[in-house]
Amino acid sequence: PRVPLTFFLEQSAAEYPDSYAIYFMGKRITYRELLQMSYQFAHGLIRRGVKKGDRVAIMLPNTPQAVVSYYGALFAGAIVVMTNPLYTERELIHQLNDSGAETIITLDLLYKRVSSVKASTPLKRVIVTSVGDFLPFVKKMLYPLVQKKQGHNPQIPYGSEVEPFLSIIKESATTPVKTEIDPEADIALLQYTGGTTGVAKGVMLTHGNLIANAIQCQAVLYKLKKGKERILGALPLFHVYGMTTVMNKGISIAAEIILVPKYEVKQIFEMIDKRKPTLFPGAPTMYIALINHPDLKNHDLSSIEACVSGSAPLPLEVQSKFEELTHGKLVEGYGLTEASPVTHSNPIWDKRISGSIGLPWPDTDCRIVDTATGEALPQGEIGELAVKGPQVMKGYWNRPEETAAILQDGWLLTGDMGYMDEEGYFYIVDRKKDMIIAGGFNIYPREVEEVLFEHPMIQEAAVIGVPDPYRGETVKAFIVFKKGQQASEDEIEKHCRERLAAYKIPRQYEFRSDLPKTMVGKVLRRQLQDEDKKRRE
Ligand code: ATP
Repeated sequence: PRVPLTFFLEQSAAEYPDSYAIYFMGKRITYRELLQMSYQFAHGLIRRGVKKGDRVAIMLPNTPQAVVSYYGALFAGAIVVMTNPLYTERELIHQLNDSGAETIITLDLLYKRVSSVKASTPLKRVIVTSVGDFLPFVKKMLYPLVQKKQGHNPQIPYGSEVEPFLSIIKESATTPVKTEIDPEADIALLQYTGGTTGVAKGVMLTHGNLIANAIQCQAVLYKLKKGKERILGALPLFHVYGMTTVMNKGISIAAEIILVPKYEVKQIFEMIDKRKPTLFPGAPTMYIALINHPDLKNHDLSSIEACVSGSAPLPLEVQSKFEELTHGKLVEGYGLTEASPVTHSNPIWDKRISGSIGLPWPDTDCRIVDTATGEALPQGEIGELAVKGPQVMKGYWNRPEETAAILQDGWLLTGDMGYMDEEGYFYIVDRKKDMIIAGGFNIYPREVEEVLFEHPMIQEAAVIGVPDPYRGETVKAFIVFKKGQQASEDEIEKHCRERLAAYKIPRQYEFRSDLPKTMVGKVLRRQLQDEDKKRRE
């Protein structure tokens, strides 16, 4: 593509100016309004000295302000740095220093955290918005209550360094902003890796990368009708999965994006009742929570036509129960931040294989390589999945060595072990680094988790390797039971023994009320490992 990512918004606003781009807590924003506000915000940033290539951090939950800030910053030629609103001060300091962002857009409720890290980062400018900025009722009535409850001091020291979001919009013209962008070379986004492993690195995604993934997504969902779809935006936009599949793809097909600031099943049901979404991209844990909710029977999910589930394996029972309820399709996909993020999915209206991540997306090449030699392996053998395509990142920001280690001749090493079957469908067995080696045998935690998941009492399970004096490592399972249900260790062990080779059976169990998860609902095995290690020390 020879256009910047912002082209999608300009095109949809030209073709569907009066269609709704955003629905947020009862407030609707049309494509014309969204484009105009993004231009206004871009003018405001440029007037404040933001130049092409400058980093602009956005630390917001799913709100219209997040979309306006993102497109506004891109129109100004800036590089967006999406920041998780739940980041602690330490994580925030790392990300702001690493990216060098001098401007941040955040919520008033998060202002305290931002201002306390300001002196330890390059930050010069803080732009503050409130969830209620576009919602007069929330602003006047509900908001003061929330602020009081959270002990937040609404006295923000507005001045030249701290400015309200709305006044920047209001002071600026709605005239188009044109910045010269080379989509292949210019970075649109620095997206920090999820933090499930090691130190967070900034993934450089160009305008071309992000456009490619949104267009690939359109190609896979080829039955979609432009200007007619409604997307349930429950995935966070500050994670690249939601950014691409909800926001950028949504805007590219002039869809209505139903923004949900926090994943709560009740809110999801309310949005399904009110807005009848046609698409619902999500993560397995989101679908699991929905189909197990006691209120499920009171809601009609039949508007949902297609869902791509990514970020973690999708259990078969979840897929079939969800499809029964919606009559729509729920297919498993796969991706990673370094690939904008999607590289594979099962075909939505064609042959799907449960347990497979499906076929490579259009224009995406794949191979399975030997982890020791880097050589391509024959079909059917397990090795590391490598991918190449227009969505693959330019590299890690300021980390040439780390980039060279996983990006070679355009091939991205994913860190995931997998194989391809005779029909070209791919399977992920697990992460390279999560593999457990017990008494010389390789165990992939995912296989054990799937067996645990088949147990009728178990809602969620996670498996890690823990040190063992005889076998080097042994398997430990963390289990969450379904509400009001329970099973003993012996019963679970028996269930596993019927389905798994002896060396794969968990030897240690921990029963919990929940599992630690990332914002896209992926279980943090690393955190479980850390907690377990601490307890042993
Ligand atoms: P970090 O980069 O800090 O390790 P992360 O890997 O969780 O965090 P993401 O880029 O969000 O960051 O996640 C990508 C990973 O998610 C993939 O490498 C893969 O391990 C996992 N994943 C995604 N989709 C699937 C799937 N369908 N099945 C199994 N694993 C998946």
